[in-house]
This record gives sequence, C-alpha cells and structure tokens, in this order.
Amino acid sequence: MTYPPDAPRSAALFARAGTVIPGGVNSPVRAFRAVGGTPRFMAAGHGPYLVDVDGREYVDLVCSWGPLILGHAHPAVVAALREAAGKGTSFGTPTEAEVTLAEEVVARVEPVEQVRLVNSGTEATMSAIRLARGFTGRAKVVKFAGCYHGHVDALLASAGSGVATFGLPDTPGVTGASAADTIVLPYNDIEVVHRAFAAERTDIACLITEAVPCNMGVVPPVAGFNRALREICTAHGALLIMDEVLTGFRVGSAGWYGIERVAPDLFTFGKVMGGGLPAAAFGGRADVMAHLAPAGPVYQAGTLSGNPLATAAGLATLSACTDSIYAAVDKAAARIAEQAGRALADAGVPHRVQAAGNLFSVFFTGEGPVLDFAGAQRQDTAAYAAFFHEMLAQGVYLPPSAYEAWFLSAAHDERALERVAAALPSAARAAAAAGAAGAGPA
Ligand SMILES: *Cc1c(COP(=O)(O)O)cnc(C)c1O
Repeated sequence: MTYPPDAPRSAALFARAGTVIPGGVNSPVRAFRAVGGTPRFMAAGHGPYLVDVDGREYVDLVCSWGPLILGHAHPAVVAALREAAGKGTSFGTPTEAEVTLAEEVVARVEPVEQVRLVNSGTEATMSAIRLARGFTGRAKVVKFAGCYHGHVDALLASAGSGVATFGLPDTPGVTGASAADTIVLPYNDIEVVHRAFAAERTDIACLITEAVPCNMGVVPPVAGFNRALREICTAHGALLIMDEVLTGFRVGSAGWYGIERVAPDLFTFGKVMGGGLPAAAFGGRADVMAHLAPAGPVYQAGTLSGNPLATAAGLATLSACTDSIYAAVDKAAARIAEQAGRALADAGVPHRVQAAGNLFSVFFTGEGPVLDFAGAQRQDTAAYAAFFHEMLAQGVYLPPSAYEAWFLSAAHDERALERVAAALPSAARAAAAAGAAGAGPA
C-alpha cells in the first residue's frame, strides 16, 4: 500500500493556515521545510496511529515529540481527562492533584526534593536558569552547542531541534545582552569545559545540559562526561541543571537519572509528565527551591500552572508507566533501530544509528560516532528527506527533520511494528538514490 504524494485536504488547510498563522504552523518543525512537501494535518490519533484529514493512517514514530509514551487516546488518560473536565477546567487556586503530581515526581527521581509545576519545557528551563542566577548571584550560563532547551532567549545560541533544522545560530530578536551571558561549548569535550570555568572564575551561575542530547539527533555523553560536569560545577560553586524534559519518565521511571546516577542541583521535566497536555516542572534541592517566591525572592508564576486537566493527564500517564510499559517501549525501540540500520546497510546508505535507552536516531553520515553538533551537521539531509517521504508514502510518520530522535510508545504492537519494518527497505533505497544523486561532480 502506498499513499499518493499529494495530500489535498492537508494542502488546502496549509494554504488557509498560511494566511493567518506565520508559516502555517505553531511550531516550526511541523512545516516540513527540512524535508519538503505538504505537512500532514492530523484529525485523530489512536494507539500507535495518526489519521490525517485525507483519511490516511500512519504509524506514528514522533508521538507528539515524546509525551505519548502510552500511545494516542490511551483509555486511562482519556477517562482521567473526562473526569477532571467535568469538575472544572481551572481554578487559579491550589489543588490536590498538583500535590499528588509533585509527590509522584519527587518519589521517582531521588535527588528531587521539591518541584514547581509550569506549562512547558521552555518555562521550566527559563525558570530554572533564573533561579540558578538568583541563588548564586551570578550571571553566566554555560550550555552546549546542539542542546535544545526550549526557546528561552539565553539558550537559543547554537541550539538543536528546530533551530538546528533551520540553521539559525543566532535568532533575530535575542539581544546581544541576553546572549552575552551565555557561553556555548562543544558537547562531549570535558577539557573545553574545564577551560571555560577556569577563564570565567566566579561568574558562572549554572551549566545546563540535556541529560542525553536528543535534539541534534541522539548524541550520548561519552563515559564519565556527566560526572565530570557535576565535579566541575561543584568545584566552582555553579549549579548543574539536567534538562530531562525529553528523557524524563521516558527512558525509565526515573528518566536518565535512573540509568546514570549523576545528581544535578536542578532538573527540568516536561513531555511525558504532561501526558499530552501542557504540564512541565523544574525541581531539585530544597535549599535552592526555597529561593522561589513566595518562599523566597526569585519570582516565578503562571495563571494555568498546575492546571487540573494537565495534572490529571500527567498523573494518569505516570501511574500507567509501569516497568512492563518501559520494557515494551525499550523492546520496540531496539527492534526498529536495528531494522532501520539493517535496511540502510543493505541499500548501501552511509548511516549511523545512535541510541540512549529507548531513544534513538539515524544519522545519514559515513563518519564514526557522532559526538557533537558539528558531527551531527555533517550528515546528508537530502538522503533523509528522500527516506522520510518514502516512509510517509507507506504510512509511517517519522520526524520531519534529520535532527530529531524517533519515538516509540507502549502502544506500538506487532501490527504497527510490522508496518514500519515493511516500509524500511524501499525507503532505504530511496535514500540511496538521493545520496547518489547528491554526490555528483563537485
Ligand atoms: C522539548 C524540549 C524542551 C522544550 O519543551 P517545550 O514544552 O517544547 O517548551 C526543552 N528541553 C528539552 C531537552 C526538550 O526536548
């Protein structure tokens, strides 16, 4: 079965959207610019599938960019939402569900003593950095090229995800003043981190890193890297912020911390913990969190923070995430990663599959391990575009950018996984043809 290349209803909606929404989308990567073609407008999701407005069904390997670890419209999540909605959608007061969700996070991730709930990963990292600056009385923030921490002004320098996709190293609108306090270093090079801290001496408030970078493709830390970051921050009186917005509650019940026990001062969470609704959090050491208003002087707030629907979806999702759920996601991810690698090898496409827990991505590169953003950028994005479109035609929805992880869920059953496996060989041949065309005379 192959879907036709045009998608009339999506195309009509995209044209309509373009007149009232910049670029026709509310988050850039959705516009398909990195792969070309018409973005698919989705009408519904069930289990491992998305259904677009032209009535085509796709196996979803994006899962809303991570949150949907149980698949679409999971009965427990839908039931929790219905019940919560019937009781009112927002109160602007504290609620019991917020306390329960905070307790759930604290119980799962041992170094977290207190959390503050927010509405997006961006808010979580923005607030964690403000808190780190308020706590230390210092200005500078260290981040790594290719790590994406949401669209926080100070963190958009050399960021991954959509920023990488569009090659916007310094987005207009971020002032020199807010970028000047950001120090961007190459990932996985501990010597450079030592040198940066030595040079700045006592002005670094915090270092923020993805626990495992997944927004330039999956680039795991080399052995000992995260631990060395911990030691350097401690030695210089700077806070370490582990951004687990993507990995948190996805690679395991305690996120990446459950796999590699390097305790930061602050964590940021999002995605899975909102179960597909806008809930995120930052948290960590109680003495640091005590600096947040109203307990302390660092201001942070939100009209909809801890929203009853979002907390209900988050709690229902986390409660359903048992060990067997994580085992199922791990198994499905390992299987697709292996099959994708094999299909590309059989078609003679230079590639490298990199994984961290149940997160993985495919780099279309003939190099050895991709260790940093520069390495990630040396891939053949035209080959990826061809691969992506052939998968789409066969009913598999991949991330519309080569710089993103692939996401599985516990709902990806035998039928869905078989469909992905069946689509891979011809997609790999399409990538081979595109790669050969791109490698013409210089
Ligand atoms: C997605 C993501 C963010 C931003 O979260 P939003 O909810 O999109 O604002 C921050 N950090 C990491 C590591 C992410 O993957």
